[in-house]
Parts: sequence; C-alpha cells; structure tokens
Amino acid sequence: MTDWLGELLINPGQRLFWVYIISSCLIAIVYTLYQTRRSSESASLKPSWLNIKNYWLHPSALLDYRYFFIGTLIKIVLIAPLILSAKTVAITVFKYLAPYTDGPIEGLSHQSITLLYTISIFIVSDLSRYALHRLLHTNKYLWQFHKVHHSAEVLNPLSFYRVHPIENLLFGLRYSVSVGLVTGVFLTLFGPRIGLWTILGANGFLFIFSLLGTHLRHSHLYIQYPRYLEKFFISPAMHQVHHYKGHMLFNYGGYLAVWDRLFGSWKASSDVQQGLPMGFANNQMQHYRSVSQLLFQPFRALIKRY
Ligand SMILES: [Zn+2]
Ligand SMILES: [Zn+2]
Repeated sequence: MTDWLGELLINPGQRLFWVYIISSCLIAIVYTLYQTRRSSESASLKPSWLNIKNYWLHPSALLDYRYFFIGTLIKIVLIAPLILSAKTVAITVFKYLAPYTDGPIEGLSHQSITLLYTISIFIVSDLSRYALHRLLHTNKYLWQFHKVHHSAEVLNPLSFYRVHPIENLLFGLRYSVSVGLVTGVFLTLFGPRIGLWTILGANGFLFIFSLLGTHLRHSHLYIQYPRYLEKFFISPAMHQVHHYKGHMLFNYGGYLAVWDRLFGSWKASSDVQQGLPMGFANNQMQHYRSVSQLLFQPFRALIKRY
C-alpha cells in the first residue's frame, strides 16, 4: 500500500508531490499569521483550521481520510486500466491529419515550439477541465456522481480526492483526449521536434500553479486574490465559493478564471460572504455519511429516479 502513496509523494506530476504540500503549508502559516495580526480580537476569530476537533476531526474530514485510501486504490486498480493513453490519442490524431499536410513546418526554433506546445497543453487542458466540471453540474445524471465531491461539509486538502470513480474515469479520459489532441496536432505541424517545458519533469505551468498553494483550495483559508487578478486566475477562495450552498453553479475553473468569465459562471470571492455552509440539506446528507454510501449513492439515486 505504501508503494503507491510513496509514488504520489515523489512525483512532481502529482498534486501530492511533497514540495507542493510544503509550499501550501508555508502559505497557510504566513496567511494565518497575517490574519491574526490584522484582527486584534483574534481569540474570537481563531482560524477554523487550527481547531482540531471541529476541523481536522470533523466527521466530514474523517470520512475524507478513509475515502482517500479506498478511492485512490479503486482509481489505480479499476479505473486507470480503462483509460486510453494520451499517446494512443496523439498517434491516432497524427495518422488522421498527416495525409492532409505537406510535412512539418520549418523555420520555428525548438524553444519556440516547446513554449507554444506547453502553453497549448495547459490552455486546452484547463478549458476541458472547465467544460467537464460544468457538465457534471448541469447534466442531471452526471450530477449524481459529482454530488459526492460536494457532500463535504468542511474542506481539507484530502476533500479534493472525495471524487466518485466514475468522475475519476471521466477526468482521466478528458486528460488523455486533451493532451493527445494537442500532441497529435503539434506532431503533424512540427514533426518529432516538439518538447515540453518542464520543471523537475512536470509541465512548467502546472508546477508553478501547484506551488502557489494548490492544496488551499480545499481548506477554510479564504485566500483571495485582488479582484483584477481573480478575473484571470482561480484563487483558493473562489473554489471555496464553488462549494458554498447556493453558489455551486459558479467558478468551475481549474487554474484560469477566463472560462468562467467567458461563459457567465464567474463570481469574485469578494462578492460572497465568507464562511457560508457547505454540503447539502440534512435529509440529503444522510446519504453521504460513509465510504460505501459515497460509492453507491449515485447509482441508488439514479435507479430510484428512473
Ligand atoms: Zn463542482
Ligand atoms: Zn472542490
């Protein structure tokens, strides 16, 4: 069991890479010190994440910890083998497009192609993430699966992994299709000269965004960016707004906020009162209290309804 966890912690392509965890912790500490210093009556405004019982040991958090292990194992053993690789998609796209071109375009330097390819992967990936996330909310069948993620009543970094295996499957396919599509097009246009700008082996842009507190989106640290910056980038507070009851149809974005603005689902964190409740009404929450409920409730709901 420790093998896969170890792999997640040392792989810069994974959210749980130890460097990202440490950078999130440092940002959390600096933010908390700053907030505490700003409010003289800090005793009454003790940050919720310092409250062990009501935050780290909240029943919703305890369920996140249990689900993390089971959900990740299911993802590795049952879901990953079902996902076609980005390489397969890239080769298929290349085979389809190649007959329509006169060979690779010459004239662009290797560095320019690398930068263009890295930016394209990042943008197409982020747009497809937005589109799928929005679909998970607006399609009544898919919503039953995405409800698992929104059933968290407190957010901690492991709430990110409270995702149903069907959603994991869809996001895995999304990754392969988006990365494979861009790679296939670039192979057709520029031949095998394409390369990815990486930091420690991870996509350079993903590395930088992951370093900037990726784990704090699923936390109660309401870290806001200035309003003008939130028009372009999703702040941790903006994702927390997405989890607030009554605001779930806003801020579907992953890293870039431009998709939310373009398609009318953008909400700045300053437009919403901080600390609103998360999860669902009590009569619904009773279906999301255990690991087995998180796994089977979506199917139960679909069978009951139709
Ligand atoms: Zn959502
Ligand atoms: Zn979330």
